[in-house]
Amino acid sequence: MRLRNIPGAEEILNASEYVVKDPASLRGAWRSLFEAQGDIATVSRQDGDGEEVPDVSRADPEGDAAARPQLHIEIGMGKGGFLHRMSALHPDVMYVGLEQYSSVLVKAVSKLTADPRDNVRLICGDAKALAEYFEPGEVDRIYLNFSDPWPKARHAKRRLPGRAFLALYNRVLSPDGRLEFKTDNRELFDFALEEAAAAGWQIEALTYDLHRDEVLCRGNVMTEYEEKFSQKGNPICKYIIYRKVEP
Ligand code: SAH
Repeated sequence: MRLRNIPGAEEILNASEYVVKDPASLRGAWRSLFEAQGDIATVSRQDGDGEEVPDVSRADPEGDAAARPQLHIEIGMGKGGFLHRMSALHPDVMYVGLEQYSSVLVKAVSKLTADPRDNVRLICGDAKALAEYFEPGEVDRIYLNFSDPWPKARHAKRRLPGRAFLALYNRVLSPDGRLEFKTDNRELFDFALEEAAAAGWQIEALTYDLHRDEVLCRGNVMTEYEEKFSQKGNPICKYIIYRKVEP
């Protein structure tokens, strides 16, 4: 990611309601935030007399109190195009985007300001601190999109699909949680597959050419990097992986 110093970036992030200033304080409580404002966002359907009627579309038909809204996060979200599009397509999912650089995060904030979403929050922070932001089992799905390849061996620890990060994802993901990773970098993808196998993750889906994969490209939402690299003709690799849950 090319970095520019954006004057006033910190001020913009501080002033934005989308940016969670103290994400650790929401650890274990991200859904309550969503449910609280789900009421605001969805209960106000009006009946014919202009009276407010409760919107039961979120309620579980079985009345299962254990049903909970999905919490999906993108780590290294960059300019936020993916989450901005996903959150419109899936209004019942709560999305949290994590990005370490404020100069990049401001781009996501400006998208959300221009075209608001109820179900998105952003964290300016490092993936290393993931377990401070989310409690064990809290997250249903993690997206890694076009993570930095860090090609030098001595930087391997910084690669987001690497073993140290997999251990963190293993902690914060729910038992049937999923990790999805897309990249056009074949070396990084091969590394990611090796790391996942070594850590005992199972492959649910895999492609080396996402845009030509009939099944996996269905409903695919492109990221900024995906648009850029696929326009150059680079095939996009993708996996969806999970942990084997002991019976
Ligand atoms: N997902 C976006 C951006 C990809 S570039 C897209 O597909 O278009 C990778 C992004 O990950 C960069 O913005 C970089 O700053 C961020 N990133 C890399 N390592 C990170 C870390 N440890 N914690 C948080 N963000 C990270």
